[in-house]
Amino acid sequence: MSGERILIADDEEHIRDLCARALMAEGYQVRCVADGLQAVEAARQEPFDLLLTDILMPGLRGLEVARAIQEFAPDIVCVVITGHGTMDMVIEALKLGFYEFVAKPFTPDELIRAVNHALERERLRRENVRLKALLPLFELNKVFMSTVDVPSLLQQVAEVAHQAVRVDHVLLALLDAGGNRVLAQTVSGSPLPDSLWAAGGQGQRIARQVMQSGQQLIVQGREDGDQAVADLMVELGIHALIVTPLAVKSGHPLGILWVARDTEGDSFTGGDPELLAVLSGQAAIAIENARLFEETQRAYQELQQLDRLKSEFINIAAHELRTPLAILMGHADLLETELTGELRERARTIVRNSMRLRDLITEMTDLRHLATGEMRLRLEELSIEKAIGEVVLDMTSLARAKHQTIAVDVPDDLRPVRADPQKLYTVLSNLLSNAIKFTPPAGRIGIRALERGDAVQVLVWDTGPGIPDHLQDKIFTPFYQVEQSLTRQHAGMGLGLSIVRGMVELWGGQVWVESEVGKGSTFAFTIPRE
Ligand code: ADP
Repeated sequence: MSGERILIADDEEHIRDLCARALMAEGYQVRCVADGLQAVEAARQEPFDLLLTDILMPGLRGLEVARAIQEFAPDIVCVVITGHGTMDMVIEALKLGFYEFVAKPFTPDELIRAVNHALERERLRRENVRLKALLPLFELNKVFMSTVDVPSLLQQVAEVAHQAVRVDHVLLALLDAGGNRVLAQTVSGSPLPDSLWAAGGQGQRIARQVMQSGQQLIVQGREDGDQAVADLMVELGIHALIVTPLAVKSGHPLGILWVARDTEGDSFTGGDPELLAVLSGQAAIAIENARLFEETQRAYQELQQLDRLKSEFINIAAHELRTPLAILMGHADLLETELTGELRERARTIVRNSMRLRDLITEMTDLRHLATGEMRLRLEELSIEKAIGEVVLDMTSLARAKHQTIAVDVPDDLRPVRADPQKLYTVLSNLLSNAIKFTPPAGRIGIRALERGDAVQVLVWDTGPGIPDHLQDKIFTPFYQVEQSLTRQHAGMGLGLSIVRGMVELWGGQVWVESEVGKGSTFAFTIPRE
């Protein structure tokens, strides 16, 4: 049961009946008419898949009927019923590309075979057209995958549309959401006159209508559309047009794809609108992607610019602060040695806080040097035990002020490593000062070093608050602090751990943290021997 619609045109009633009964029994939908003019009229009123027509009829003959119907329904399949003495017409019909003939007298089976055969050939032809249509889409897909530049994408889409549906004009226009303003456009083939977009003109109206409805507008001839469209077609010198929205899944269509033909009677075939719809859909997605890419790139460039400004600012600020600070520290040092009593204590406070300020400036410049790749390693052979001892000594007063103890555990036989003493000092002092800072008074803190494969591993552990799992990665990024900066109790800019990571990675080691909230944290890093 195929259900295709068949129009039977024959002046002999018993042949019409015979054909109708045989075809209906096969599942076809059938309409019968008695002459050629009625056949053309019927085909105008409703679409048919196949015309079965007698070759000799009073009034319009079979071939003329077929030709007239094909003018407005080019995809209709024609089967001719021939009689004796019509061989010349049969040859003419063959030249016209008619698919099948049934010679009188014929049996119902012969008729059905001819009709089935003709429809099958038409199905294959359409399939062929569809496959051919896929080729440009395939080509286009390759372009879509590789092009992120909107203007060249528009041009490629217009050119593929031009080749795929064989038209005289292609116009691809990106419009604003209301369809009023042309944002970008490109043409392939000969350009349509500028009057298309004349203010308040018909071109604009059609574009708006197509974008708002989301439906294609297909006009096969000047008499096919409304008067305004017909007038525009005359003005533009075209005879058939298809306007397709560039629809995206969410949001307004991005614009329209406008194709047109100049030659009268050169109407579009069945596959053309479908092909244009698929093409426009794909093009819309690609254009949207390209726009997103452009936006992301722009945002990325802005961020880069901001990053540059930030670096510059840090550089200038650090440089400008360093000199007055050095002078301040010199005088405060002098005052501390010369003064006595309470005043000496005050001078000591100035010295202590100036040193803190100096450390902050050093952090800022270290971070910048790491980010710009300006930081260099100065390797020398050194004892880990000695390096740890120095840092612990410098930090003891801080720990003591909080009644904390620092346990040191370094095996006697740990061989020296090749490392940069200053950077190792910075890493150890950052980790140890964090441990002291975040661990509550009277808490325990420790440093351990051990041989691990072909590296030395150093662990700085504490019995502080711990760090939640999901933040353990984040704390190594610059300026990240677990506590909100305005309410936090501890000093610092959130740079220490990012500097630690930068330096450890600079010498080819790794750094990580293991921590449990409420129990404490262990920061570990490695110094490779090679
Ligand atoms: P700062 O100490 O200046 O805030 P860091 O980069 O050294 O910056 O540390 C980032 C954040 O990681 C800290 O603000 C803190 O929230 C968390 N953190 C670092 N070390 C510890 C630790 N030993 N115990 C608990 N939290 C820590």
